[in-house]
Amino acid sequence: MAELTTDDTTLPLIADPANYLACQWDLCELPDKRRHWIDVFRRHFPSLLEQACRVEEHDGKDAADAEQRATWAKETFFAELDRMETEPERFTRFDILTICYARERVLREAGFDDPYRLAKAKENDAAIKLLPDVLAELDAMDPAERAVAVVKGMFAGNIFDLGATSTAERFQNEQVDFRATLAQLPDRPWVVDDLDPWLDRLRAGEAHERALMFVDNAGPDVVLGMIPFARYLLQRGTNVIITANTEPSLNDVTHDELGELLEQVAEVDGVIRGAMAAGRLETAPSGNNAPLIDLTRVSPELVAKVGEAGVDLLVLEGMGRALESNFFARFNCETIKVAMIKDRGVAESLGGELYDVVFRYETPEG
Ligand code: MG
Repeated sequence: MAELTTDDTTLPLIADPANYLACQWDLCELPDKRRHWIDVFRRHFPSLLEQACRVEEHDGKDAADAEQRATWAKETFFAELDRMETEPERFTRFDILTICYARERVLREAGFDDPYRLAKAKENDAAIKLLPDVLAELDAMDPAERAVAVVKGMFAGNIFDLGATSTAERFQNEQVDFRATLAQLPDRPWVVDDLDPWLDRLRAGEAHERALMFVDNAGPDVVLGMIPFARYLLQRGTNVIITANTEPSLNDVTHDELGELLEQVAEVDGVIRGAMAAGRLETAPSGNNAPLIDLTRVSPELVAKVGEAGVDLLVLEGMGRALESNFFARFNCETIKVAMIKDRGVAESLGGELYDVVFRYETPEG
């Protein structure tokens, strides 16, 4: 069970807070990785600005002014990336999160609060329509089949990612196809595959008391992947806290959007409705504004909730939260790290390929 630390932004579940590092790669020391990540951000940024201008146009803002701000944002962020490339030592700590925070700062300064707002809303609507069928299919399965299907659902949902260049291009003009993705998932064993010990744990052990789930993207990711997994845990008797970003970042679902989505889901699903009414399913803002997460910088509200709640299962979902950060972090409760790989650098570091999937299950004992 978690104990409260004195630092009110550190997630109490971290096993060794003094030695915790969100991102394992120090980009000062790793020039190849530094170049890779700076290049990833550089290649992706124009599509982000395109989305930002689309939102401005939709909101009736002056198009020429939006274009100008986008140009300023690009020049400013690219100049910052150049300096990161040539003078990494000016940071006390330089990792992928450093670049994430810089990007968000530039966007806000340019007046772009939530560039993916329209894209998220569109994908949320499409996913909500599919959800009743997805839940009915899960409910018709026998327990063993269902335990695997909810894990595969998390992988299939996680492909919806406008923050990775490989998938951003794919989804720019295409409606996401959750079912096709499910059918095309790689065969087991996955590149990281702890599914069997997890299934053993489900069969042999008591239900977890309370799960804390860090969710990733809006749309099918949260609606068709994470909410069904939360629902599965609720049905087993586990209480669930879902935490999402406080501030917008790429197409990650925000805390406010998550609340609206759960209201919509509650209208069509009795399990979620009942759990919300009983206080068994709660949400909390994570305090985060990046696609990765530093778990020593979460919201005091989340820290307080976790401290009170007796969380014994932590779920970190998505490439940013589970692989690019926190992959090597250890926790004092059972932990699941689940993601689909959408970046070649991440794939290489795990010895896998693009679109490989990761399911890591850890116990505090090791
Ligand atoms: Mg994301």
